[in-house]
Amino acid sequence: MANTLLKVTGLKVAYGGIQAVKGVDLEVNDGELVTLIGSNGAGKTTTMKAITGTQPMLDGDIEYMGKSIRGRGAWDMVKEGLAMVPEGRGVFARMSITENLQMGAYIRNDKAEIAADIEKMFELFPRLRERKDQLAGTLSGGEQQMLAMGRALMSRPKVLLLDEPSMGLSPIMVDKIFEVVRDVSARGVTILLVEQNASRALGIANRGYVMESGNISMSGDAKALLNDPRVRAAYLGE
Ligand code: ATP
Repeated sequence: MANTLLKVTGLKVAYGGIQAVKGVDLEVNDGELVTLIGSNGAGKTTTMKAITGTQPMLDGDIEYMGKSIRGRGAWDMVKEGLAMVPEGRGVFARMSITENLQMGAYIRNDKAEIAADIEKMFELFPRLRERKDQLAGTLSGGEQQMLAMGRALMSRPKVLLLDEPSMGLSPIMVDKIFEVVRDVSARGVTILLVEQNASRALGIANRGYVMESGNISMSGDAKALLNDPRVRAAYLGE
């Protein structure tokens, strides 16, 4: 039996009177890389926010490691091993790269290990090492994305939630980001990846969910979804 780390059941989320998520079921097993794809406004980001506790749910439940996390805040969830890299990244613009990485470890107090982990982040993202004293606000979009991922990894998460890491990046940076996501996954971090770039996301994922107008319309093995004519027509422009 697969060990389910994250289990979302009948999730509904509304903004005022408008229901953005209408009853979503999904699960992420230990060690998996799962992607949630779908067009603009489908409700992907809202689903992520409900999982991290940054957006309250209207109905349904979310279990993390077998326990309901309903009503728990984002801070609490980071301590439990659930870290999110939000859309738009949100690095601390007036802090250096190194300071941003240190901030990512705010829940820890093992100084020597934190320093060792910063070193690991620089191995994973050599571009960040070259610029380690540079202010984060002056980094390119791709570099900020790397820093945001590095900062989230500094909390040593069990599960990493990534919201559209490739958004707004040049093709070369997109390649680099997907390479890093695969790398982080290979190091044993469980990942839920929200992406509009369906072909790239399904290309590296184990499983995928397709979201349309607040509902999951299709799900399954990532390679099977990638070859599904409905997915190809709707999301891969064929
Ligand atoms: P995208 O790929 O464009 O980011 P998404 O699938 O992540 O889309 P959401 O951002 O979850 O979609 O949005 C789902 C719906 O909820 C959209 O119709 C959006 O306009 C609406 N919505 C999102 N955030 C808010 C908010 N804070 N207040 C009101 N409506 C919102």
